[in-house]
Amino acid sequence: MNTPLAQAVDAALATVIDPELRRPITELGMVESVHIAEGGRVRLVVLLTIAGCPLRGTITADSESALLAVPGVSAVDVELKVMSQEQRDALKEKLRGPGGQRSIPFNEPGALTKVFAVASGKGGVGKSSVTVNLACAMAAQGLRVGIIDADVYGFSVPALMGLNQAPTRVDDMILPPVAYGVKVISIGMFVKSNQPVAWRGPMLHRALEQFLTDVYFGDLDALFLDLPPGTGDIAISVAQLLPKAEILVVTTPQTAAADVAERAGALATQTGQSVAGVVENMSYLEMPDGGRMELFGSGGGAVLSERLSATVGTTVPLLGQIPLDILLREGGDAGVPIVLGRPETPAAKALAGIAGQLGARPRGLSGRSLGLQPR
Ligand code: ADP
Repeated sequence: MNTPLAQAVDAALATVIDPELRRPITELGMVESVHIAEGGRVRLVVLLTIAGCPLRGTITADSESALLAVPGVSAVDVELKVMSQEQRDALKEKLRGPGGQRSIPFNEPGALTKVFAVASGKGGVGKSSVTVNLACAMAAQGLRVGIIDADVYGFSVPALMGLNQAPTRVDDMILPPVAYGVKVISIGMFVKSNQPVAWRGPMLHRALEQFLTDVYFGDLDALFLDLPPGTGDIAISVAQLLPKAEILVVTTPQTAAADVAERAGALATQTGQSVAGVVENMSYLEMPDGGRMELFGSGGGAVLSERLSATVGTTVPLLGQIPLDILLREGGDAGVPIVLGRPETPAAKALAGIAGQLGARPRGLSGRSLGLQPR
């Protein structure tokens, strides 16, 4: 059938995006059939990747509203079926490439994703809050963004993003849930709530490797990894698994904190990674009279940027200073990052400014070899 109505119906279906794969359902082989009956009643059969797909309701509702917006369509009936194994294999091949090859897509020679490993010397400096806000700000700026919450002991990214949905599994492929346009995967999605994760180095390495190979992120502009604080096993695994990752160091203005943060950044010299920059968080508190109270001292970010520049041998910029703001903490508690919920605040503006700098960097800068030679 190639009537103008049938064409309009096809065009409308091409605007329905699978909520997890972020591609039109028509491209993903999810539309099994479309029939337009007398009077403009459309009967649509959609193939879900797996039975009990948690987002079936969204797909149904989005298809209905797209079709009902077409002039001449009077009613819509959506039937949901499930893909056969062959159809799923075809889908996986389409997403992952020939043979459904499992490798780390971010390491492919032509890969353009900028990978930022967010590190800190110690916990509580706002590393996760910074990660989440930078990712959301970049997504709001129109970039395709993902986060891997690799902070195994203190995973907090899902809560900061208001996510409580589990990832969907399609055979050996894991589809990350999406919040505010950002694809998020976290260790926290794989363990029972409030259970401690008592994993040792090799298990952490394997978990991160699995996130990188099995989770389907698609083509991303930027991937953030929220690392555990310090210079532990995971930081070394990141260097091995994602040699092109650039390190982003979060610190407070306290000069003593800069000392510990320096170790996290200096690890890059041993692993051959580059350091994208320093983010100073909790820089000051704005007082009602407009003055600034420097609760945690001052200068830590600048000192760290200077010292890291000297250690790694390239300029490590201080990308920004984020003030203390109760609204930042409240936004985190409510699962609405401040850059989205209260973009007019100085803290949100500072974060958006840093995201703008990272997003604007040429993609080829990463993976620069430091030219280190054995002594
Ligand atoms: P980390 O990941 O380094 O452990 P978090 O991002 O979990 O740190 O932040 C620790 C606590 O500090 C959280 O309650 C968070 O809301 C709060 N916080 C972080 N940055 C700020 C800020 N600039 N202003 C106010 N509260 C902040």
